[in-house]
Amino acid sequence: MSLLAKAASGRRLSAQEALSLLELPLFDVAAAAHEVRLARTDPRTVSYLIDRNINYSNVCNVGCSFCGFYRTRRQADAYTLTYEQIAQKVAELEAIGGTRILMQGGVNPYLEFDWYLGLLQYLKAYHPAVRIEAFSPEEIRGMTRLTGMTASEVLVALKGAGLDGLPGGGGEILVDDVRHASHVAPARVSTGEWLQIMADAQDLGLYTTATMVIGFGETPEQRVESLLNLRDAQDRALATHGNGYSAFISWTLQTQGVRIHGHAPGADAHEYLRNVALSRLLLDNFVNFQASWPTMGYKVAQTALFFGCNDFGSTMMEENVVSQAGATHSSTSEREIVRQIVDAGFSPVQRDSLYNVVARPDPTSLLSQPAA
Ligand code: SF4
Repeated sequence: MSLLAKAASGRRLSAQEALSLLELPLFDVAAAAHEVRLARTDPRTVSYLIDRNINYSNVCNVGCSFCGFYRTRRQADAYTLTYEQIAQKVAELEAIGGTRILMQGGVNPYLEFDWYLGLLQYLKAYHPAVRIEAFSPEEIRGMTRLTGMTASEVLVALKGAGLDGLPGGGGEILVDDVRHASHVAPARVSTGEWLQIMADAQDLGLYTTATMVIGFGETPEQRVESLLNLRDAQDRALATHGNGYSAFISWTLQTQGVRIHGHAPGADAHEYLRNVALSRLLLDNFVNFQASWPTMGYKVAQTALFFGCNDFGSTMMEENVVSQAGATHSSTSEREIVRQIVDAGFSPVQRDSLYNVVARPDPTSLLSQPAA
């Protein structure tokens, strides 16, 4: 059996086979990835989520060189939102039928742990129907340093206060030689810490996703190693608690106006698509793969639907992190997402963050409405 035929059959691939796939023509690899996607998910539909990103504070002491979002406390535009301001954003999301908030911020050493617990309790009291997925592993590590508690203890307390899941932020390349390189983020949460915090969250039944960013100057071997670290973690998660990563999302490093500009090569659309296809083929224990329209633009994201992706991500409503490093878009509407899915030849399905179907919108009716 040829390597491409083996890949298209969905069988497990080795690191060497993955590296060999990177040498083959892009559209051959894409065809194999698309075949696996059609076999593992509903072949007729592409799903999406109506949600909102909320960045509760931009104060951060980690200092990643690719980040244009963070501020020190003394900078004039440093902010921390109040509970009321955050709740107002959730109310705006509910008004358009949204079901999930993705809440992340900097690692703010001036916020007490009780502030996070109080925030979750406040939001659950006023908006019980909205799922709260919040605090990436970097922020959870910050809370362990703040409190002296273990990550697991922190997560138990947050879950008790209302946390439903963790965003996969900070995955980037899960190889320490890349993520801790002097031109990237020497103080960043390590590969082992990131994976362990996610495992702790999965053990508690919390929802998790995995992310990958390419373009730091990592080698093909390091990209494959990063993906295999995720595949191994997913094997362990499914075997030990039956609750693994719900989705995988990748994009390219955004460098506009940030310190890493000129020190990392970034990655173009061709590399992005190749990595999307490779991910679908190598991560045989992940079901859902999201296309990244915010960083890659709509047309590349549509193309990714033929390279292994089965999901068009979410409306986001308000994104402040990658957009401050040059991402193409920071939010979109349900109407626009539906248009992109239909134009690509699929039926749109609104999902919740657990990938349950919420609605099957009528594209004709939705697209005939005036744009908001
Ligand atoms: S990426 Fe996150 S952890 Fe890094 S500096 Fe920005 S806000 Fe801080």
